[in-house]
Amino acid sequence: MRILVIEDDELVASGLKQGLSQAGFTVDLAGSAEAAAESLRDGAFDLAVVDIGLPQSDGLTLIRHLRARGNTLPVLVLTARGSLEEMVSGLDVGADDYLAKPFQLAELCARLRALLRRSHARGDNCLRHNGLTLDINRQQASLNGTSLDLTRREWALLEALLLASPNVLSKERLMQTLAGWDKELTGNAVEVYVSRLRGKLAAGGIDIRTVRGIGYRIDAAAG
Ligand code: CA
Repeated sequence: MRILVIEDDELVASGLKQGLSQAGFTVDLAGSAEAAAESLRDGAFDLAVVDIGLPQSDGLTLIRHLRARGNTLPVLVLTARGSLEEMVSGLDVGADDYLAKPFQLAELCARLRALLRRSHARGDNCLRHNGLTLDINRQQASLNGTSLDLTRREWALLEALLLASPNVLSKERLMQTLAGWDKELTGNAVEVYVSRLRGKLAAGGIDIRTVRGIGYRIDAAAG
């Protein structure tokens, strides 16, 4: 899942990027509300973590503008310690949750997973498709009851396909989910990952269909 972290403090931002990446998220950073607004325009993120205290335009203004445009992206705001006012303002302008600094990474991860669960109207932290289950908390995949060994990128790819299901996931979106902005990832590389993943899923009767000119969709394998 791809997260945009909007935080001007470089030390905090890089710590968040490292911690959230280890927890299985793809993370991109924006250092200002202006940069974030630009990045959020194409809808390539599943979630945003917004620090309220930003240079120039602040986090609250950013969220207000997002919501005014009809953008329903799940947003968690980071507030100053003990600031009831920031917390209330954050929720009032349209944030879905908040966390006061300083916080433990484990709590942030749990809150982000809860937000994603709610935004996809799921009751638990598992993504399922026929016999396939991705347990997001444990980062474990299984197919018809047997544990499935996936690399980080295979996991990210499968997760993105399951979140998009039954819709087709565009190849461009898939590339963004896999790489973030800071790594070069070609369309050919995506095809290689898809092909490896197909190999691992085939025995369980699950296929990744290529929808020509658009992208991929997870599906039952043809009989
Ligand atoms: Ca700040």
